[in-house]
Amino acid sequence: MLKIHQLQKSYAIGDSSLHVLKGINLEVEEGEMVAIMGSSGSGKSTLLNIIGMLDEADSGDYILDGLPIKNLTEKKAAVYRNKFLGFIFQSFNLINYKNALENVALPLYYQGMKRKARQEKALFHLEKVGLANWAKHLPKELSGGQKQRVAIARALAANPKLLLADEPTGALDTKTSYDIMAFIQQLNNEGKTILMVTHEEDIANMCKRIVRLRDGVIMEDKKVNQVSALQYV
Ligand code: ADP
Ligand code: MG
Repeated sequence: MLKIHQLQKSYAIGDSSLHVLKGINLEVEEGEMVAIMGSSGSGKSTLLNIIGMLDEADSGDYILDGLPIKNLTEKKAAVYRNKFLGFIFQSFNLINYKNALENVALPLYYQGMKRKARQEKALFHLEKVGLANWAKHLPKELSGGQKQRVAIARALAANPKLLLADEPTGALDTKTSYDIMAFIQQLNNEGKTILMVTHEEDIANMCKRIVRLRDGVIMEDKKVNQVSALQYV
């Protein structure tokens, strides 16, 4: 699914530079569910953003689904992003003046899908996350857990091969976090490959593999006995 070799990334800060990723090597196979852990500032989001083609590495190789991700034009990158990747963020990143259905339908619009097909597909995915009755509601009328479900439906709408989540439960209480994790586990059981950043051990243990970052390198990469979130919901 993806292969990363000797990935490096620095940020320029005034005259100096901050070396954030110092040679990351990572392979993820189809069907995996991986947690990326590490303390705040350890480069988790930087790595996820590079994997998500939202940012570019300074050097190293990144191959996604057999395609080398390097020097792509902005247009090409957008096409691959829409085709391969779904994103979930801690702060949901919904568009606040669009209702739930319109939010889910948006990536389909960028794929060039016709209005009616978009609406049908978006409704299908809202049903999947249990929010069909909330289709016409604005984000501000939804709870945090409901907003994250809309965001998940949006991420899934274009049927991405890889789902990327940056602290998806970071803004949710424990019970709601486990609800969302149970849902993400179900997606993984259905075959979706998932890569998730978290700094919470209990959430990481609901994945199948934990990759730990420290000082810009991977200090540990191990399979774990996955804890089912379903038992908590
Ligand atoms: P994490 O997600 O693990 O908390 P990040 O990847 O967000 O860490 O950030 C890693 C380091 O890089 C932090 O010190 C952060 O301040 C810095 N950083 C992140 N993005 C930028 C940026 N666009 N410009 C400069 N520094 C950045
Ligand atoms: Mg982060």
